[in-house]
Amino acid sequence: MTSHIVGYPRIGPKRELKFALESFWEGKSSAEELKQVAADLRFSIWKQMAEVGIKYIPSNTFSYYDHVLDTTAMLGAVPPRYGWNGGEIGFDVYFSMARGNASVPAMEMTKWFDTNYHYIVPELGPDVKFSYASHKAVEEYKEAKALGLDTVPVLIGPLSYLLLSKPAKGVDKSFSLLSLVEKIVPIYKEVVAELKAAGATWIQFDEPSLVLDLEALQLQTFTNAYSELESSFSGVNILIETYFADVPIQTYKALTSLKNVAGFGFDLVRGTRTLNFLKSGFPSDKYLFAGVVDGRNIWANDLAASLCILQVLEGIVGKDKVVVSTSCSLLHTAVDLVNETKLDKEIKSWLAFAAQKVVEVNALARALVGQKDQAFFASNATSHASRRSSPRVRNENVQRAVVALKDSDHRRATSVSARLAAQQKKLNLPILPTTTIGSFPQTIGLRKVRREYKAKKISEYDYVNAMKEEISKVVKLQEELGIDVLVHGEPERNDMVEYFGEQLSGFAFTVNGWVQSYGSRCVKPPIIYGDVSRPRAMTVFWSSTAQSMTRRPMKGMLTGPVTILNWSFVRNDQNRHETCYQIALAIRDEVEDLERAGINIIQIDEAALREGLPLRKSEQPFYLEWAVQSFRITNCGVKNTTQIHTHMCYSNFNDIINAIINMDADVITIENSRSDEKLLSVFHEGVKYEAGIGPGVYDIHSPRIPSTEELADRINKMLAVLDNRVLWINPDCGLKTRKYSEVEPALCNMVAAAKLMRTQL
Ligand code: GLN
Ligand code: ZN
Repeated sequence: MTSHIVGYPRIGPKRELKFALESFWEGKSSAEELKQVAADLRFSIWKQMAEVGIKYIPSNTFSYYDHVLDTTAMLGAVPPRYGWNGGEIGFDVYFSMARGNASVPAMEMTKWFDTNYHYIVPELGPDVKFSYASHKAVEEYKEAKALGLDTVPVLIGPLSYLLLSKPAKGVDKSFSLLSLVEKIVPIYKEVVAELKAAGATWIQFDEPSLVLDLEALQLQTFTNAYSELESSFSGVNILIETYFADVPIQTYKALTSLKNVAGFGFDLVRGTRTLNFLKSGFPSDKYLFAGVVDGRNIWANDLAASLCILQVLEGIVGKDKVVVSTSCSLLHTAVDLVNETKLDKEIKSWLAFAAQKVVEVNALARALVGQKDQAFFASNATSHASRRSSPRVRNENVQRAVVALKDSDHRRATSVSARLAAQQKKLNLPILPTTTIGSFPQTIGLRKVRREYKAKKISEYDYVNAMKEEISKVVKLQEELGIDVLVHGEPERNDMVEYFGEQLSGFAFTVNGWVQSYGSRCVKPPIIYGDVSRPRAMTVFWSSTAQSMTRRPMKGMLTGPVTILNWSFVRNDQNRHETCYQIALAIRDEVEDLERAGINIIQIDEAALREGLPLRKSEQPFYLEWAVQSFRITNCGVKNTTQIHTHMCYSNFNDIINAIINMDADVITIENSRSDEKLLSVFHEGVKYEAGIGPGVYDIHSPRIPSTEELADRINKMLAVLDNRVLWINPDCGLKTRKYSEVEPALCNMVAAAKLMRTQL
């Protein structure tokens, strides 16, 4: 009977690591105190898994910041600007790479596959002198061993490490990251040797990149790397773990042909084709680590269904060769359901967070060897039955409305150029109109008012007045600055998804369901458990209040359906696109109410549209089709004269530009200032683009105030590729994380730059 966990959340059930890190960074606690919190967390995780009965318990899945950065440290690949001179990599160098310091900025951070976790991107070039610098994997292994636990150290494998890297600045274009494989494999050998010497019997190599559409050279690099490593694999069992999708068939063949490897791990939740591949062949002497418990979601496993799959697998690979596992690291789910004191009891019975998933994995492993815990399986079946039949899940009207959507394209009737002309007649905006993305600084005072209102410490009347006062301040400021299209500033919103989720039916909220996003930062995604509907208007009061304070156009401000979906834990009992259509219908009601209330410009943010893009190319067209369709559903019913804006938080969309055009918004504002050329290059290539576009003219992530000249220069560059009749002038994103002392001068310069450019047209 064997069970295995791919990896575990490190932040702690109540974000203990977050608070310890932040207190250390602020100089309020010592390195020793931070290390103690970390050691306590590791201990409690290992102990829990051991007590449950997990056989293969992971170690080295803890990290002070990020496990890719830990691998960079392991390989001694610290970029020279951090001043590391060999020897141990201390907190100072480590956290400087992660967060920057007074004199050097941080390394780049980017998304980990299609999750909301962000890793620190290794910067590599031909001159990097790799060395075995951080022995963390061995230290953690020994630490667990001293506690009486034999764990499986987890390493990011060499192929994935290189594919997650980028060439360092200034490196010749002909340089290939994959060529470094020869240099890093010897370090991996040293790590394996040291782990073996310390007593490790299994080592796990995570190679999630294997699920991507690999080119021949990449796959060859993988095979070469592991053939080269093989000599060090004698005397220890090697597991190669894949996750987030199934591996393409060619890769599957190459992977399972590796000789000195003891087992292979597959994601059987997202990897729907894996079962067929296994049927077509699996080496008889290897272990199959079967990821049947979903590491990306918070739903209780359907134990009966999983058991059936596991029995089929046993039939294919042999009875003693199946190891029950999670689909991927549990890093991407919430930590422990025990701390959810406010969740409705019935909904709670449908859920399993990381701690509960560990129990599920073990229960399945025991059931496979005839030690089925009948009571546990029975209560699981009961909760699934309750979820299937619960009236709070199903709303017939919503289901019918979604069915009725089928077979129609849901497009606005007129072309974008005709609409823009009609809108301009009504709005009468200057050329190069200025606007902002929505939020204004969220001061401590504002947060306090919201908190107190939520805790019922202040009355609704006082709350509404405080918000109105804030809105009026923001409106006045924008008028003084001379901005053309105003926003109300979003003072009433804590978070752009939570704010809407709280007002829609079908959503539930946790108190401690945190998931690490990067470093010490966590998000608490809402749970979509039922059909989504909108009982009443959500933003109309605030937007019309704001509009009543000014004669300039006030933008209504909504979050789009795809973003709400991608930033939530989504129900797994119906297709994602169906849930997305339901949200789209709810947002459509809001759009139409805003229009009726006299709001002529409505922005529907799709900050996270690209995030949901499937990893495999073959699955991308379908996603883009329903995602774009969902967006269009929200606004296909408005008048020509109502201007629909959308906003996106990334510039890297050259590959999905057609989908973006297909969204058919009147104006799109996009993050851009950190990657000018990349974005504008799309338009060099002659893409036919007729809608309004506002590529951010300055970076709101930085406190730096851009000068008027610099901004004018940026605008000039944009005008070289974009028609001056379509260009909008705005910052990169919302201003909520900035201070007024930064926002005021920055916007003042932005307006000045726009005015200056107008005189030159
Ligand atoms: N309207 C939102 C804001 O300004 C958009 C945030 C975002 O794109 N992430 O805060
Ligand atoms: Zn944004």
